[in-house]
Amino acid sequence: MRIVIDPGHSGRNIDPGAVNQNTGLQEADVALIISRLVEKYLLAVGYEVKLTRTEWEQPETDDLNYRTALANNWGADVFVSLHCNSAANKSAKGYETWTSPGDTNGDRLATCLHNQIAAEFPDRVGRTDYSDGDADKEARFYVLVHTEAPACLVEMAFISNDEEAALLANRTWQDRYARAIARGVTDYFQLLYIKEGKR
Ligand SMILES: [Zn+2]
Repeated sequence: MRIVIDPGHSGRNIDPGAVNQNTGLQEADVALIISRLVEKYLLAVGYEVKLTRTEWEQPETDDLNYRTALANNWGADVFVSLHCNSAANKSAKGYETWTSPGDTNGDRLATCLHNQIAAEFPDRVGRTDYSDGDADKEARFYVLVHTEAPACLVEMAFISNDEEAALLANRTWQDRYARAIARGVTDYFQLLYIKEGKR
C-alpha cells in the first residue's frame, strides 16, 4: 500500500501557513514534524510512504500541482494532507476532516481518521458536518480534487488558539497525533479489504 502524506504549505519564508501570534509557531513546521512521525509509524507496519514536502522550506511544493502529481505519478493508494487551522476568533478550537464533495472512498478514509483522532483526544472538539451522514466536511480543495487516490485533509487543531498551539508544539502530543493518523490509515485499508473481500 502506497501512502502519500502531504505536509501543508511550503514552509518558512515562502509560505509558513498560519502562525500563532504569541509564540510564532508555524503551521508548515508542525505539519512537517507530524508528517514525518506518521511516515515513521506507517513504514514500521510495512507500508510504502512518500511525503510531498521533506524540507522546512521547499519552493516547488508551493505549487499544489507538484504535490498531486507526485501522488498520481507514484500511484498512491491514499493521500492525507495535514494542516493546522486558524481563525480570527482566538477561542476557536478543535479538529476537522475534509474531503472532496460527493461520496467516495475519501469519505471512508476521513471517517477512519476522524474516529481515531476522536478516540485519542476525547478532550478535543470534533468540528463535524453530519448533514451527509458522516463527520467530514466537504470542499473543493485543490489537493482533494486533483488526487486520483482517496484523499482527506485534516485540520489537526487551531494554531491561532493558544491552548491548542501549545499542544501542537508539544513533542508527546505530536507523537500521539501521528499515531492516531497512522491508525486511521491502517483502519481504512482494513475496511477496504473487508468491503472488497480481498482477504
Ligand atoms: Zn493550512
